[in-house]
Amino acid sequence: MSPTNLLGFTQQELADFAENLGESRYRGKQLFQWLYAKGATSFAAMTDFSKDLRERLTAEYAIDFPTLEMSHRSHQDGTTKFLLALVDGAKIETVLIPPRIAFQNGSASAEEEQRRLTVCISTQVGCPLDCKFCATASMGYIRNLTVGEIVGQVLRAQKTTEKNITNVVFMGMGEPLMNYDNVMKAADIMITGIGIAARRITVSTAGWADRIKQMADEQRKVKLAISLHSANEETRTKLMPIAKRYGLQELISAIEYYYDKTGKRVTYEYIFFEGVNDSSKDVGQFVALARRVPCKINVIPYHSIDFVAPTGLSADLRPSKRMEEIVEELRTHNLTVFVRGSAGEDIDAACGQLAVTMEQKKPTRRHGTLQPHRRTVDRIAL
Ligand code: SF4
Repeated sequence: MSPTNLLGFTQQELADFAENLGESRYRGKQLFQWLYAKGATSFAAMTDFSKDLRERLTAEYAIDFPTLEMSHRSHQDGTTKFLLALVDGAKIETVLIPPRIAFQNGSASAEEEQRRLTVCISTQVGCPLDCKFCATASMGYIRNLTVGEIVGQVLRAQKTTEKNITNVVFMGMGEPLMNYDNVMKAADIMITGIGIAARRITVSTAGWADRIKQMADEQRKVKLAISLHSANEETRTKLMPIAKRYGLQELISAIEYYYDKTGKRVTYEYIFFEGVNDSSKDVGQFVALARRVPCKINVIPYHSIDFVAPTGLSADLRPSKRMEEIVEELRTHNLTVFVRGSAGEDIDAACGQLAVTMEQKKPTRRHGTLQPHRRTVDRIAL
């Protein structure tokens, strides 16, 4: 049996763990600091522990970080994509995004903006939701990530860059709210252990309405973003099959519930596709929806996903030529709109393009050996 991985344990759990070992609960607190604040990768590094304790921990327990298999840095903008290997051999991607193109916080000072270092992390291996504009969707769903694997992406990014991560977006591979407990536990560890402010952590969902309400009920401090992409039921269902399970009315009700309970504004993410969701009528419907609760809007430029051989609607999606015009129009309605930079277009690092098919597209850059993922579930029943 493989040793228990302590990465992913909360402070409370580590205190209980220490007590069970016959140590003081304070030892658990020290362990928590070593793991998250100091990013220790071995028990041997924990120099304020006795030699006996370090040896016992080393013999019986583990600190399993995701392993860096390869990284690609964009020549265009410095965005860096990490391919990480997990203990079972599964591969995930984590993207480090430099300040000027990162997910817009909207409330940061100029100084904060300058030192902002954002990491976009994955929450599942693959994803079952099959959004038509997303490369990850082509992988199907393999499994949820553990708490340690989620937190480990942030710690790995810090180690690799030797800089502190200031912002986290749960916007990589997977639907975070389908892995709710692990995601929220990981977010809590990032806040209390790594020291990232809750207001700098954003959970982005395709619209899992029940869990949005749960976030409200639990008064979660992290920010909420909704991948909306259309305020028209039929169009949204074509783009995002999750809309068959959670229609727009149910989603909007959940968002209103969230705002009523938390008083926190939400962010809508929107990609404009030519001839799909960029007509005047589409924009009008979006404006009407966006006025329901205080919000801000992140417009995301689209990059085609030709490398995953999309079929059907996916194959026909093109970036809208009206994006800038629409952004101006939205602003005339007093909506707060940010246009996100084209993060790492040359390395396929923009959100929605995260798939471990990077290798297929750029075989000459391969350094590791990737195996295709084995699908256990292709798509969720919606
Ligand atoms: S956009 Fe997000 S939720 Fe949709 S398929 Fe891709 S990873 Fe899943």
